[in-house]
Amino acid sequence: MHGEVAGDQVRFRRPCPACGAAAVADGGQALIGGRLEWSIETDCPACGPVLACGRAGMPAELRRRLLAEGAHGPVRLELDGAVRPAVVMKVLRAELALDLAGARAALAELRAGRYTGTLAEVAYLVAAFGAVGAGARAVRARDCGSRHGVGERGAVAEGLSGGSGADRP
Ligand SMILES: [Zn+2]
Repeated sequence: MHGEVAGDQVRFRRPCPACGAAAVADGGQALIGGRLEWSIETDCPACGPVLACGRAGMPAELRRRLLAEGAHGPVRLELDGAVRPAVVMKVLRAELALDLAGARAALAELRAGRYTGTLAEVAYLVAAFGAVGAGARAVRARDCGSRHGVGERGAVAEGLSGGSGADRP
């Protein structure tokens, strides 16, 4: 895996978006150069490969599948305890475009160890927290018994420090 890319992917069956024929699709989301990107490539027997991709507006179906069926599945965001709540709120509001109530709710989830997302989404926030000097890491949420770090800050944030704080998804 390339050092600047953190992401997950999933293969699933779906109708071709162009002609409706039964097809197999490869969907994914990744953090590339500090930006979140998603793609779905549908391999249609009639049309050939049909590609949909973008930055904003990831289809809800793809996100649901990544969390349920992706190799990484849901990933939990862990923050160092010493990070001040005001800093956490500022990063959450800036990076997720949350209002105050939304940021408070997210902060509570974080503090309770319940804040999860896709690997790329959490890696994005790990980089954002790293950019303001706050220690954060991505931890695999699916295996309750063994907590594997899937994106320790050094690995995920490597190469992202240059301007990642200024980029928005
Ligand atoms: Zn087709």
